Amino acid sequence: MNVILGAGMAGMGAFYRDNSFEVFEMEDQAGGLCGRFFARSDDNRTFYFDKAVHLSFTEDPIVKEVFSKVQQNIYNPVPHSWFKNMWIQHPAQNNLFPMTVEFKVNALKDFIGRNQKDEPQNFKEWLLFQYGKYLYDELFEPYNKKYWCTDLEKMDTCWVGNRFYRPNIDEILYGSYTDKTPNTYYAKEMRYPQKGGYRRYIDSIINEAENADKIHYGFKVKNINLLDKTINFTSGQQIKFDKVMSSIPLPTLIKSIENAPADILKNSESLAYTSIALVSFGFKRIIDCKDIWFYIYDTDILAARAYLPSLKSSENAPEGCSSIQFEIYRSNSSEPFDSEKCIRNSIYALKKMKLADESDIIARNFRTVKYGNIIFHKDTRQKADSIIKWLETNGIYPIGRFGKWDYLWSDQAFFSGYQLAGIR
Ligand SMILES: Cc1cc2nc3c(=O)[nH]c(=O)nc-3n(C[C@H](O)[C@H](O)[C@H](O)COP(=O)(O)OP(=O)(O)OC[C@H]3O[C@@H](n4cnc5c(N)ncnc54)[C@H](O)[C@@H]3O)c2cc1C
Repeated sequence: MNVILGAGMAGMGAFYRDNSFEVFEMEDQAGGLCGRFFARSDDNRTFYFDKAVHLSFTEDPIVKEVFSKVQQNIYNPVPHSWFKNMWIQHPAQNNLFPMTVEFKVNALKDFIGRNQKDEPQNFKEWLLFQYGKYLYDELFEPYNKKYWCTDLEKMDTCWVGNRFYRPNIDEILYGSYTDKTPNTYYAKEMRYPQKGGYRRYIDSIINEAENADKIHYGFKVKNINLLDKTINFTSGQQIKFDKVMSSIPLPTLIKSIENAPADILKNSESLAYTSIALVSFGFKRIIDCKDIWFYIYDTDILAARAYLPSLKSSENAPEGCSSIQFEIYRSNSSEPFDSEKCIRNSIYALKKMKLADESDIIARNFRTVKYGNIIFHKDTRQKADSIIKWLETNGIYPIGRFGKWDYLWSDQAFFSGYQLAGIR
């Protein structure tokens, strides 16, 4: 039997290409990180939330066509950040207009005088190289520590790509004198299903598939035996496999393989990642925020980012209501989340930003996502590649964000499965 493990974007990308594969998913529905959940108010009103922000900005023609089968809302957002207790256009480095004169002078002075000679050896040095010491100390270090939950010196830069805007001196000067700056965010057009949440992109694939009964839910891989080519599930069932495409996170997958070599096991255990606490609130009124999502630089607020599901689609909140979700991060090596603390701090954020009071909240949900973002340390790529190579020589082909162990967006995760299914 040919098998796909996991029915998230990557697994569904593979299944879309070749639906002769049997899919085994541990949850009772498809979606993975692109899944959806709801919270109800006491008077039975329903608020829908995605797992973290999730908007599509794919430029990949194949994925675009697949996603376009869903009716979408289209947005051209100009995102903002909460920084030093005020709103500032994102990215802050070329939108310093609201900052004090002292801040601007220091930022500009250090930007002009930054060390441009030595090639950056890690993420900290890369940020100093791009933006100078003042912006690093005031903005990039506090925010990135909150987001990555690790020492920035230990991080590699292989994942950076176009995620950080690198303005020239003219852009920084313009952004210091005026708030009429061009939108330099890396994705200009954002799309989101009109109905059904982000998961609708996946639901539409399943609804159209001839063999949707090949997707089996509630099948959590317990262990894999490479010698007799069997997979045992926690439910007690066993299957025999020929080929496997797996989107299961590498550390979990390797742990489940019987007699995996010691060095592979050790490498997989050392892979670092962030987990996310999602604090979601439904409000009895429409709160005054025009941003579909925003970043939170200030460190008195635990969340690094928040988004408004009710602005992504009117279907996500009852009429006359609105909603928000905060994302709080921790690394896999740090303390577990304290749910009470996360909720209390998110309510503090709502009040501080003058968005809402506790009395406005009529529905709430707290949940955690184990695998959020991959933390790229200096040796991450090499360790992950050695694991992937070993898996492939044993007939297990990793796909997706946590199979490839890469910073993939949902379209790239989809494509990684789609592409592999075309080869195997
Ligand atoms: C905070 C955040 C915001 C994001 N925002 C965006 C965005 O705006 N736009 C965008 O394009 N992308 C975004 N992404 C990226 C996107 O979520 C991922 O690229 C994509 O969801 C990854 O899909 P996947 O199938 O590779 O992994 P997953 O979604 O994790 O799928 C893996 C599947 O495997 C299943 N599984 C795990 N273990 C087992 C087991 N033992 N047995 C059986 N099944 C198992 C899981 O239940 C899951 O369904 C964001 C990601 C994060 C963390």
